[in-house]
Amino acid sequence: GAASSGGLVAYADSKSDDVADKPQGPRKKKVVVLGTGWGGTTFLRNLDSRLYDVQVVSPRNYFAFTPLLPSVTCGTVEPRSVVEPIRRILEKKGGDIKFWEAECFKIDSANKKIHCRSNIGTNLDGDGEFLVDYDYLVVAVGARSNTFNTPGVVENCHFLKEVEDAQKIRRSVMDCFERASLPYLNEEERKNSLHFVVVGGGPTGVEFAAELHDFVTEDLSKLYPSIQHLVKISLVEAADHILTMFDKRITKFAEEKFVRDGINVKTGYKVVKVSKDAITMQNPATGDVAVPYGMAVWSTGIGTRPFVVEFMKQIGQGNRRVLATDEWLRVLECDGVYAVGDCATINQRRVMEDISEIFRVADKDNSGTLTVKEIQDVLDDIYVRYPQVELYLKSRQMNGIADLVRTSKGDAEKESIELNIEEFKKALSLVDSQVKNLPATAQVAAQQGQYLARCFNKMKDAEENPEGPIRIRGEGRHRFRPFRYRHLGQFAPLGGEQTAAQLPGDWISIGHSSQWLWYSVYATKQISWRTRALVISDWSRRFVFGRDSSC
Ligand code: FAD
Ligand code: MG
Ligand code: MG
Ligand code: MG
Ligand code: MG
Repeated sequence: GAASSGGLVAYADSKSDDVADKPQGPRKKKVVVLGTGWGGTTFLRNLDSRLYDVQVVSPRNYFAFTPLLPSVTCGTVEPRSVVEPIRRILEKKGGDIKFWEAECFKIDSANKKIHCRSNIGTNLDGDGEFLVDYDYLVVAVGARSNTFNTPGVVENCHFLKEVEDAQKIRRSVMDCFERASLPYLNEEERKNSLHFVVVGGGPTGVEFAAELHDFVTEDLSKLYPSIQHLVKISLVEAADHILTMFDKRITKFAEEKFVRDGINVKTGYKVVKVSKDAITMQNPATGDVAVPYGMAVWSTGIGTRPFVVEFMKQIGQGNRRVLATDEWLRVLECDGVYAVGDCATINQRRVMEDISEIFRVADKDNSGTLTVKEIQDVLDDIYVRYPQVELYLKSRQMNGIADLVRTSKGDAEKESIELNIEEFKKALSLVDSQVKNLPATAQVAAQQGQYLARCFNKMKDAEENPEGPIRIRGEGRHRFRPFRYRHLGQFAPLGGEQTAAQLPGDWISIGHSSQWLWYSVYATKQISWRTRALVISDWSRRFVFGRDSSC
């Protein structure tokens, strides 16, 4: 039934009819998912939707394969090849999942309701607003582009976040070339029109610059022979290097390749203002410099969406920058709300906060001291609950906990070492320095979505077995380990059929072979056979005929 509340109509109470049909079953809990990106879609695909009454709210009725967006900017891949309608994904799952194309603009966690607004149709109130109530809410709304309040960015720069952005960039690149070809422009004006500026030397900015360079040299140079020598691509980065999240070897290779390719790499420059025809950047040595440009793409980082900021204030997270969850992806201090992907960050527990508890659990014989063996016995559990311990040992090239204990106690005999609580604290005192935030990647969002779906599939077990601070084998066992990220590696396409790959274990590979690895990984990771076929045929078409410059 529909209920009225504050002028808003709740359409979301969809399960009551079903319950009437089958009075014997208890009411299914309502799961509401916000967002159809990497996190939300992966959650939905892995959820056992027979267990819940599931509703999805997103302003976008499709999933977008973001790693291929830079390829869309230059027509290497067509826009429709990188999107999959969410209704098709839901239909494939079977079950009865509802989708509402709308935006959530307010989470009311006290009443377990969300406020939504549709842009494509109005209701009786004329505002397109409606309420959806939930038992469990999964927030997977991603992030927004961040301009760091730099003046003129919103008005004059392109972002590269959505499929529409990529399409606009493609059109804008062509406009710059056609403008530069007009008869009444002088050489200077042609040059300015063909100056492409990419702000931000992260993976997206770098890949776009590389893609644009290929498009210009491989395809457009043939179509615009008289002006192609005027083209300039600048990559502006405030830090000292580009691709700083990658291994130094990759950074170095990328910078050198770009310089060889004639891409103007301006590291150490911060963009402070963008006007209609000039970008002002700042460098301690040179002061402000204003550079004329034809088109600019802004790709410097992400920020929290305004309605999430409001929600954070409501639940006492107002002093944080990103919505915080625990390691089970439950939003802190907020019953029934979960968050995955770019909109959230895991508040990793510190070993030092729990050190007495860890000591107590490990000290099986209650002797007041820990032997190496006692520590060893709980080490797997410690690794699960506090991944920083493993990272710390690795960063110090230590072989397990015995090394750590020995180092902290001088060079005493391994077998006989026992630590009291103070010594145990001292041994572990630095491990929390290894706590790191997970990167804002599709890989993290997808793994979190999958993890959370598995938790939901076993929710009843979980409720019967609440977690302790650390999971000890055989006692107080609970079903769910905390979320743990498995890094499967990362690519940085650098143009000219060359890609840098950084795989687990710091395995680095750069060149044509990793480009083929890239093709095969991204073909494999496609969400459906349909998009897979489209993407592969786009790539083949590009190999044979080049990129399409009409749009
Ligand atoms: P998103 O995938 O952004 O999904 C957010 C969803 O929420 C969208 O459906 C959106 O419409 C919806 N939404 C927004 N506001 C609301 C609202 N108010 N109410 C309801 N729904 C809302 N990562 C990699 O690992 N590898 C790569 O190669 C890679 N390349 C990238 C290239 C580009 C150009 C970009 C932009 C990103 C790339 N990423 C890559 C990062 C990756 O796309 C993100 O980390 C990932 O999309 C995060 O997933 P998410 O579910 O948190 O958010
Ligand atoms: Mg999502
Ligand atoms: Mg996405
Ligand atoms: Mg995150
Ligand atoms: Mg003991």
